[in-house]
Amino acid sequence: MTESTGAGAAVLDQDDRGPMVLVRDLHRSYGTGAAAVHALRGVSFEVRRGELVALKGRSGSGKTTLLNLVGGLDQPDRGRIEVDGLALADLDEDGLLELRRDRVGFVFQSFGLIPILTAAENIGVPMRLRKTPVRTREERVELLLGLVGLEGHAKQRPGELSGGQQQRVAIARALANKPALLIADEPTGQLDAETGLAVMELLRAVVRSERVTALVATHDPALLGLADRVLELGDGEIIER
Ligand code: ADP
Ligand code: MG
Repeated sequence: MTESTGAGAAVLDQDDRGPMVLVRDLHRSYGTGAAAVHALRGVSFEVRRGELVALKGRSGSGKTTLLNLVGGLDQPDRGRIEVDGLALADLDEDGLLELRRDRVGFVFQSFGLIPILTAAENIGVPMRLRKTPVRTREERVELLLGLVGLEGHAKQRPGELSGGQQQRVAIARALANKPALLIADEPTGQLDAETGLAVMELLRAVVRSERVTALVATHDPALLGLADRVLELGDGEIIER
């Protein structure tokens, strides 16, 4: 480590840590032989710390495949992925589990909430997995409910909430363990335009307030304007940056 003092130190430290996401020449195919689908054919990009990057591309272009690889849910055939300075290829099963539990928060199109748990309990699940003390957990759940605008809805189950509210719970849950990276796969895909925009605006706001980095797949052009940068996937390749 180089010693740095003065006003520029924080900025230098930020640079020292490198990008939040680094992807190099990533390949992923499904199936073999003539039936093989080449979902990703040599994808490279970076996401800087604190950025909200939108990943666009029509259905089947490889967005979900890419997000699953970056989040450690799947492994590539070839290529390099680093998240928060960690090379995913160097992690064993436990390491990948810790990455998904502690460093990455996931938001899915279908919300993925547990139906029999209340909103507050759903938000608390990642902290239970990490054995966070009850008191700390309850305080953070309270704070997160406020952050996503759901004060007063703590005791409702997913079935008693609107789609937009359910996605807000899912965003709060994704933030529970203070991840460095938020990965969202078409988070507004099941919402009407107005609700979808509100959810994207919430994501935009939490990226700033929680100092998180976000990679968000969407093919909704109305939402792309909120991103710091847009990457476009076409047939498994980045076609625009
Ligand atoms: P997107 O999220 O942009 O719609 P996907 O990453 O889901 O794209 O899919 C990219 C390509 O890979 C598509 O042709 C899709 O049919 C194929 N694919 C995705 N998942 C699987 C799978 N589990 N088995 C076989 N093919 C798959
Ligand atoms: Mg998809």
